[in-house]
Amino acid sequence: MKVPFVDLKAQYENIKHEVDTEMLRVTRSQQFILGPVVRQFECEFADYIGTRYAVGVGSGLAALRLVLMAYDIGPGDAAIVPVNTFVATALAVTSVGARPIFVDCDETYNIGVQTDSVIIECVKAIIPVHLTGQPADMGSVMEMANYHNLIVIEDAAQAHGARYWGSRVGSLSAAGCFSFYPSKNLGCYGDGGIITTNSKNLADDLRRLRSYGADNKYHYTVLGDNSRLGAIQAAVLSVKLRHLDGWNERRARIAGQYRAGLDGCCGITFQDIVPDTTHVYHLMAVQAEERDELRAFLADRDIQTGVHYPIPLHLQPAYAYLDYKKDDFPVAERLAETTLSLPIYNELRDCQVEYVCKAIRRFYE
Ligand SMILES: *Cc1c(COP(=O)(O)O)cnc(C)c1O
Repeated sequence: MKVPFVDLKAQYENIKHEVDTEMLRVTRSQQFILGPVVRQFECEFADYIGTRYAVGVGSGLAALRLVLMAYDIGPGDAAIVPVNTFVATALAVTSVGARPIFVDCDETYNIGVQTDSVIIECVKAIIPVHLTGQPADMGSVMEMANYHNLIVIEDAAQAHGARYWGSRVGSLSAAGCFSFYPSKNLGCYGDGGIITTNSKNLADDLRRLRSYGADNKYHYTVLGDNSRLGAIQAAVLSVKLRHLDGWNERRARIAGQYRAGLDGCCGITFQDIVPDTTHVYHLMAVQAEERDELRAFLADRDIQTGVHYPIPLHLQPAYAYLDYKKDDFPVAERLAETTLSLPIYNELRDCQVEYVCKAIRRFYE
């Protein structure tokens, strides 16, 4: 039996007819950048998340970066970023010339309760990440942000559809930033991203910023960027959005199957669950003793796994200039050594999950 880590071909087989039809419609229209198909998807996605506006952009990184630009965060400013995230969260901050202030995570893998020591004068924003598809503890994030007057920007790139106290992530703060990279829970056929917000001002600013800073063709009111969602991508996304809740439910069932199948398995520890949330399991991340040996053992049995992420951001060479050192963030550093992502996606079959559980138990016996 083979168990790939992701299987986008299997997903495509299931929606081929719908997707091909909608993509062909765009090809025939020859209108590829923004336009009615993108506008329609923006409305559908805003409805789905429960915000008034959604602005389609070129990638998840661009979504974060454009929001920071819209809030005029730049050189001399800083933003709080969890240290165990995909590099793009921090790159958004550094790409506008601001400084990331890294903070540790807890056993939920998400941003922990912060002490006030990270609040220095130049901190303007905090970017909680709903890592692996589990909502961050937004109650404490918002409380701290309100107290210190910080802008909250959610990095929801791994959490399309996840809920915190009944509300979808991306609707809980000033702006929600999503990626549509192909392997995300909702992915397109190239790069893509979107920002959700209830602020008309922010949505208007973002529409200018994604298109060179223009409010009319050839009339530039701000210095912008070129980062737009393509119509073919929007057509694919409209089709896939209709399936998203079903796919996420299937992911949650698979997660339940892993938890049951590995219950009591001595080498495996599960992610702590945040109460009153709906986890959408972009990743099935566990902590595994002898992680690298286990990975190789599973690879020998045709089971692909992932590591998200092997090196926390403060120890990356690119961020050496920030002068962090080893042991600054003990929880994230330990997670980086033990975290292992198991295959999880709608098309994964029950017998494959069973096969993975059996192989893991075998390894630890
Ligand atoms: C994927 C991802 C991004 C970046 O998205 P891109 O579309 O690849 O730029 C940002 N943050 C997190 C947590 C991600 O997983």
